[in-house]
Parts: sequence; C-alpha cells; structure tokens
Amino acid sequence: MSKFWSQRVHELDPYIPGEQPKDNQYIKLNTNENPYPPSPKALAAIQAASDESLRLYSDPNSEALNRAIADNYELERNQVFVGNSSDEVLAHVFSALLKQEKPLFYPDISYGFYKVYSRLFAIETVSVPLDDQLAINIEDYCKGDKGGIIFANPNAPTGLALNCQQIQTILDHNQDCVVVVDEAYVDFGAESAVKLIDQYPNLLVVQTFSKSRSLAGLRVGFAMGHADLIEALERVKNSFNAYPLGRADIVGAAAAMRDKDYLEVCCSKIIATRQMVTDRLKTLDFKVLPSSANFLFIKPQGITAKRMYLRLKEQGILVRYFASPRIDDYLRITIGTDADMQTFLHKVQTILHSSRA
Ligand SMILES: *Cc1c(COP(=O)(O)O)cnc(C)c1O
Repeated sequence: MSKFWSQRVHELDPYIPGEQPKDNQYIKLNTNENPYPPSPKALAAIQAASDESLRLYSDPNSEALNRAIADNYELERNQVFVGNSSDEVLAHVFSALLKQEKPLFYPDISYGFYKVYSRLFAIETVSVPLDDQLAINIEDYCKGDKGGIIFANPNAPTGLALNCQQIQTILDHNQDCVVVVDEAYVDFGAESAVKLIDQYPNLLVVQTFSKSRSLAGLRVGFAMGHADLIEALERVKNSFNAYPLGRADIVGAAAAMRDKDYLEVCCSKIIATRQMVTDRLKTLDFKVLPSSANFLFIKPQGITAKRMYLRLKEQGILVRYFASPRIDDYLRITIGTDADMQTFLHKVQTILHSSRA
C-alpha cells in the first residue's frame, strides 16, 4: 500500500493465475495449456518474421490475421477484432460494451477475470448461481433488467457446455443488451455460436489462440460479431494501444488459423485422451463432470480435493484447486498427452492407496 496509489487501485482485487513454475520439474495440468506444440507452419512464420523488419512497427490493423480469421469463420473483415490475448479483448469488451447503466449478469462460478474486469471498470454485476449440477440455467438469463451478459461456453472450470439452441434462447430474450460468449475452449467439442452472428446483432463471440491452437505464449485473442460491436472495440483499442500485436504475432497466429488440419488432429487427440481419463477416474468412483473442454472437473472419492492437490504437487503434478465455496471439493485437471495422463492416473491411485491404508 502506498499514499501514491489511486483510490481505484485500492479497490482492485486482481486475478491470480495458476502457478507457472520456473523449473520444468512438473507435469503441468493446472492452466489448460495444450500439451502439443503449435502448428509447424505457425512456428515457421514466427521465425521468418524475426528479422531486421522488427525495427518497424507492426500493422496496426493486423490485416493478415483478421483476414485469416474472417476466412476461417466465413465472416466479413469488419466482423472481426483481434487483441493481445483474449484477456485483453475481454477488457476492451467490458469497457466498450458491458459498462452500462444496468448490471452485468454472469455465472457465480466462471472465469475469474469477469469479476476482476467488473471491478476495474466499476461495472455493477449480478452473479447468477449455477444450478446444483453446476450447470448454467438459461432461464435465469431470460429475466431481469440487465446491461449485458457474459459467460464462458464451455464454462470454466466446469467444462459443461450449452448448445446453440440454448444460447439462441438467451439471445432472443435479451435483444436490448450485448451477450458475450467466451469460447476459449469451444474447439474441444462444444457448438460455436459464430453461426448465429448474422442473425443476432447483440452477439459477440470471443476466442483465443492459447488453448486449442497451442499458442498461449504468443498472446493472441479475437472477437467476432456485428460490425457495430467490432467498431466499439476498435475505438477503445485505438484509445489504448494502437499496435497490440507484434509482427511475429500477426503472421504466426494467421498461419495457425489457416492450418485447420493441424487443429483438428490436436483436438481429436485431446478429446480421445479426455475420454480415457474420464473412464478411468469413474472406475475409482470419482465424480467427473461431462467435459467439452481440454480439462476435467472432478470430485475425488476417498480423499479431499485439497489433499489430493497437495499430494499430487509433492509428486510433481500440478493441477488446479479452487478454495472457493461450492467447488472446494473439486479439482480441475488439464488434459495432457496420453503419457502425462497415464502418469497422473498412476499417481492418483498410489495416493489413494496410501491414504486409504
Ligand atoms: C484461458 C482463458 C481465457 C484467456 O485466454 P488468453 O487469450 O490466453 O488471455 C479467456 N477465457 C477463458 C474462459 C479462459 O479459460
């Protein structure tokens, strides 16, 4: 604390990311990174961009990337916005579209940054409880006076997804406010709302290169929606940082977006591994929520979640434990390679055995 801090800084409650240990001694199953490398085409593009041209500013409109995204999702160029990570895109979304007279609705259990940005931008919120199965109840979003809605689909940390028909019901009941769908994990098996964009001028879909495209270290995210919503984001962006993406980011992400086959292969592998781990954990009587993401939300049996988290860490495996009401008996486990997950399952069994003995 310091007398030099603004009142706003005193009031902030910053996001705490999952641990990022400096050494490589852990199997990291705690921050939903992809265990597979980025597309070789993306790596080649990034390398080719790392030359003397770095003395020049990057393209402020990142044309090559926006074009690749628009082509991939069959959208117009003016329906796409990109930023330096989807967290940054979300920050612009909060200040450009979700800061309204009326409160913002979001699930009580969801991505931690929604609460953090609401504080940062002084947005009044209504935190809507998930149902007793930890699912979003769409009826809760079809009533009440709101200035906006945001939720992750699949939701984090539960992995549970709504289908497009359910999202459409929410959109139909909220034509006077913006509905933001954060699709950070959509490529791992959920239905994307992108196909509803031309029908709903109040829909904004946010995605990232960090999860399904294995580029968490590059920091690129994007939003898709009606041109008017995108223009609002451009206005905020150009009042904040005109060059959010570097030269290598733009060409690397564009190459990753165009490499559809590679995305497909990586996601299929993760989905198959997710199924294998789900089946194995169920034989241990663990509760495993049906996941459409690259992680599982599980409730261990015969040991507390906190103890399992600590024992796994001692054994070199990092998973995510949230000491929050309603979810403090669950763990969130990122899906790694088959080999990582065999090691994980083996350690889980050893820990159970020693704690039951
Ligand atoms: C990981 C994640 C993000 C942030 O992704 P970045 O692009 O790496 O900032 C956004 N939303 C959700 C729900 C996430 O899990």
